[in-house]
Amino acid sequence: MVDVLIIGAGGAALSAALKAQEHGARVQVLSKSYPTRAQTCMAQGGINAALAHSDADTVALHVKDTLKSAQGLASTDAVRLMCRQAPEALAWLDRIGVPFSRNDKAQIAQRRLGGASNARACYAQDYTGLKILHTLYDQCNRHNIEFLNERFLLNLLTQKDAEDKRYVSGATALNLRTGEVEVHEARSVIIATGGYSRIYHNHATNATGSTGDGIAAALRAGARLSDMEFIQFHPTALKSSSVLISESAR
Ligand SMILES: Cc1cc2nc3c(=O)[nH]c(=O)nc-3n(C[C@H](O)[C@H](O)[C@H](O)COP(=O)(O)OP(=O)(O)OC[C@H]3O[C@@H](n4cnc5c(N)ncnc54)[C@H](O)[C@@H]3O)c2cc1C
Repeated sequence: MVDVLIIGAGGAALSAALKAQEHGARVQVLSKSYPTRAQTCMAQGGINAALAHSDADTVALHVKDTLKSAQGLASTDAVRLMCRQAPEALAWLDRIGVPFSRNDKAQIAQRRLGGASNARACYAQDYTGLKILHTLYDQCNRHNIEFLNERFLLNLLTQKDAEDKRYVSGATALNLRTGEVEVHEARSVIIATGGYSRIYHNHATNATGSTGDGIAAALRAGARLSDMEFIQFHPTALKSSSVLISESAR
């Protein structure tokens, strides 16, 4: 039995895998495709963070812009936490080797994207997500994290503890190579299976694997879901193609 079973192999999953491994856990990453094919590799424009070397930008401005763009619907606490932690998250990605584009002082370069009052988006040319994902995958391999590819999550396994509380003890997955159903036991399970915008088929620019089956498995296991009405639709795309026109172009 592993300590942490992570379902999904995108940016969220691989970051969680590295952090869990850093704390001494034995980690397995299970995904229906291959780590380098997760939707994260499609991200282009960049990631917002008010970095210390920016003269004009502050975390408070990042919070203000984000709340304004959210039209009053975002949780202020969640936005504050994200904006406060963004500079350290970027610094961590930089430390582990993501090849961010640089300004003439060799600092992480930033550009201004939609809704931002400052040049705040950190980027790696126009391949930000791809570079991040490949770096995370390299690091996972370097730390001998175990990958179970071509495994489609079916259901989460649940048990009851001494106080009759239900907890997750693993997952069943369809092995897409052999057609067999496998049982994977774990002390804890992290679901990082991404979004579900692709259920809108050609009206979404998201990856074909973004179909929400991880969210459905969590729901069947008794998880409470929130904010399911928020779905990522890029406002600019090539007509009838599902191909995004990058936010940097916008
Ligand atoms: C074209 C495009 C451009 C974008 N540009 C930007 C940008 O510039 N900046 C930005 O911040 N964001 C951008 N995004 C959004 C960003 O890519 C996503 O928010 C982010 O990558 C989500 O990461 P994730 O790890 O949560 O999920 P994903 O990268 O979607 O990974 C989900 C993982 O779960 C696995 N999985 C799913 N279901 C199952 C199952 N049933 N069983 C097993 N495994 C499963 C998948 O195979 C995959 O490995 C963009 C998105 C797109 C589509």
